[in-house]
Amino acid sequence: MSARVVIAGGGLAGLSLAVALLDRDPAARVTVLEPRTAYADDRTWCFWDVEPHPFRDLIAQRWRSWRVATPAGVAVAEDAGVPYARVRAGDVYARARERIAAAPNAELRTGVSVRRVAGDHVETETGEVIGAGVVCDGRPPAADALRAPGEPFLWQVFAGARVHARPGTFAPGTVDLMDFRVPQAGEIRFRYVLPDSDASALVELTAFTPSLPERGALDGALADAVAGVAGNAAEVVAGEQGAIPMTTALPPAPAAPGVIPIGTRAGAPRPSTGYAFLPIQRHAARLAERILAGAPQPLPMRGAGTRWLDRIFLNRLLAEPQGAPELFRRLAAGVPGDALARFLMERARPADVVRVMAALPVGPFAREAVRSTTPWPARAAG
Ligand SMILES: Cc1cc2nc3c(=O)[nH]c(=O)nc-3n(C[C@H](O)[C@H](O)[C@H](O)COP(=O)(O)OP(=O)(O)OC[C@H]3O[C@@H](n4cnc5c(N)ncnc54)[C@H](O)[C@@H]3O)c2cc1C
Repeated sequence: MSARVVIAGGGLAGLSLAVALLDRDPAARVTVLEPRTAYADDRTWCFWDVEPHPFRDLIAQRWRSWRVATPAGVAVAEDAGVPYARVRAGDVYARARERIAAAPNAELRTGVSVRRVAGDHVETETGEVIGAGVVCDGRPPAADALRAPGEPFLWQVFAGARVHARPGTFAPGTVDLMDFRVPQAGEIRFRYVLPDSDASALVELTAFTPSLPERGALDGALADAVAGVAGNAAEVVAGEQGAIPMTTALPPAPAAPGVIPIGTRAGAPRPSTGYAFLPIQRHAARLAERILAGAPQPLPMRGAGTRWLDRIFLNRLLAEPQGAPELFRRLAAGVPGDALARFLMERARPADVVRVMAALPVGPFAREAVRSTTPWPARAAG
């Protein structure tokens, strides 16, 4: 029988890893430890539907086109076979919980908070020690552990509202991916509108910002964004908020030797976009294979090539934030929808990369490429 895998944190990464293990070995011995006592439908996970994964059949909605708008114009990209997709966190949690409950040797223990992890056991806040063959750590990382000297860093902070409005308010087939025609407040800000129907949508106000703002700091801007798209009579029925790190810094070292980080702690969010859902699914699949093959060890979330490209892009955003809206609009206008979707989801073909490069201003990016390739101590000295 395989060694028991103990997973600290039953969020997206912890539950995805449990499902990936059970998909490959229904008798796998898995314990997930999660402080929550109840799961709510607390997040909306979106991504371009580029590949299969265990939750693909839960996709609640797909959109064929998406828009990027700036004061200079509006670019509309069409999916050409790769739609933008959404799953509800509540559906993912429910599916994973059913799978774990039905498995003979797996358990999800809610109301359990992990205090310490080691290579062969975890200790809970109540002092219980749980022995393990493999320990995976999906607890959120400390914010101050995410930065590294010389590596760009931005927070993607967002506040969202689920809005009901008059029929005809929203265009149901199109996502407003980034609408920069909102006050920028010295940051990079945009409105995101994900319509369920012509009368209902998730409206978010997102900021790319170097430091984490106080909770509620975006509320006023969100209210304006909602009023701007849906009018003052729109009804807000629910909220959603979060902060995602965007950095090419390598993720923090494991909390103890032999422990395997997963999810955000392992650097799941793509540095240039913050998208993490598909990287987490891929990481869970690869890690499950390794664990079941008896070779558990930390796995990098992505290769050096993507980090290099993202370092260049993030450094451009930091060097010239006021130019960011046009960069994104040029990408949506100049790159075919399917190529851009694959690029953003880290599944680019060589021709996709060429198209993305061709859509960006050559001079600043070439200079940034040289700068971003120089090892950081030399840059810091220069
Ligand atoms: C609101 C929101 C919306 C997002 N939308 C998207 C999106 O549309 N597309 C996309 O690709 N990415 C999105 N992301 C980014 C990413 O997909 C999510 O953050 C995802 O939930 C990350 O998974 P995770 O397992 O690393 O973290 P989480 O899902 O946050 O899981 C961490 C878990 O650890 C638990 N925990 C905390 N402390 C302890 C402890 N001491 N012991 C044990 N467990 C502990 C928490 O309760 C939680 O369940 C979004 C993020 C947020 C915040």
